[in-house]
Amino acid sequence: MSLDTSTLYLVATMVAAMLGAMLLFFGNQENIPALIWWGTAYLLGAASVALWTLASGTLGEMLSLALNAVGFVACGMVWNASRVFHGRKPNLPGLVLGAMAWIAAVMTLAPEAAELRLTIGAGIVAIYAALTATELWSDRRRTMRKRWPAIVVPVMHGFVLMLPILLGDLLHPQDGKFSGSIWVTVFAIELVLYAVGTVFLIFMLVSERTVSAHKTAAAIDPLTGMFNRRGFAEACSRVIEREAHAGRPVTVLIFDIDHFKKINDRFGHPAGDEILKLFAVIVVNALRLSDLSGRIGGEEFAALLPCSLEEGVIAAERVREAFADSGIVDDAGPVDTTVSIGVAGGPAGTELEVLLAAADTALYQAKRSGRNRVEAAEELPLSLENWRRKTAGLALPASSRPVAGLV
Ligand code: GH3
Ligand code: MG
Ligand code: MG
Repeated sequence: MSLDTSTLYLVATMVAAMLGAMLLFFGNQENIPALIWWGTAYLLGAASVALWTLASGTLGEMLSLALNAVGFVACGMVWNASRVFHGRKPNLPGLVLGAMAWIAAVMTLAPEAAELRLTIGAGIVAIYAALTATELWSDRRRTMRKRWPAIVVPVMHGFVLMLPILLGDLLHPQDGKFSGSIWVTVFAIELVLYAVGTVFLIFMLVSERTVSAHKTAAAIDPLTGMFNRRGFAEACSRVIEREAHAGRPVTVLIFDIDHFKKINDRFGHPAGDEILKLFAVIVVNALRLSDLSGRIGGEEFAALLPCSLEEGVIAAERVREAFADSGIVDDAGPVDTTVSIGVAGGPAGTELEVLLAAADTALYQAKRSGRNRVEAAEELPLSLENWRRKTAGLALPASSRPVAGLV
């Protein structure tokens, strides 16, 4: 099969231009600057290669050199697109350095050294490909998995471009005319695959990021910035599994701010919100980095500590004291900031639901014993269903508890 290299290059550049236009359109629509960089790079690169292929021979030395330089700037833009994608600033000197190196090489090399020129050109593109691969790989978000295509695509591209350098001897064109060489065909095909592969990669990374942003938003309470109930439960199940594996106990704390309704009534809802934020800060500061915490209801918070019940009670006391001593004074007078805390601990592998149920019962005891105190659960429910039935009368708020004689 004989492939016409000019046609191949034309197809390659048309594909690249089309992908560039798509990226540009999508980047503008979704306001993703990295895609605008990427799209412009493709359009620029495609334009320079198309002009160079169509008008080769008729172009003057200087114009041809300028077109090549634009092609290298396009490679630099692809690399900068991956920097921008990760929230870094574009590297402008790096953007033009490849083009400058190319111009310097052409100016200083003898016109006969066509092969060396080609090798240098391929080397520059390979360096940009390697930089792009490093950038895509070194994403600081550790949550992203399956990132291997992000490195394989640019590295393959760089490798194909480096081949002439690695296999320098094979490169000698038999007929003295390089455009007939097999490598040019390989490059053209590779260019199409690279352009398509990269766009696939970009969309994969963009969608991965969007999904992870939505996931985070669904797990976070906007007022305090803590986990919400759902995020807390998800994070807990991971920690419980890990601790169970290591055979270590876990302890759950449930916090309920005392007379919070009164705080709202007296100082206003916005002031109540500020107290909730303050409490979140106190919890986070009083606990260790390895502890999890979240806002599981209006003025209810919870924490999971990888420690024994006794250590959990000590941590709970720290939170209670810090909140009671916060000394908040509003224009309308001092705010009574106290919290009641229920603590429940269990052996390795105890389910979160079981711990929460026991901690909730302990919390109710704390409320009943006068508030502003920590109570530890004496036992863990063996069956949640029986436990709920047994504590149903106990755990209901005073107003809704059945009164003897009326039921
Ligand atoms: P107790 O000591 O028995 O816990 O009394 P309490 O008043 O704290 O408990 P109750 O459950 O009766 O009231 C909770 C209040 O929390 C009622 C609700 O208006 C308030 N609340 C819930 N979510 C928010 C919020 O996001 N912001 C503010 N400011 N208040 C909230
Ligand atoms: Mg409550
Ligand atoms: Mg309360």
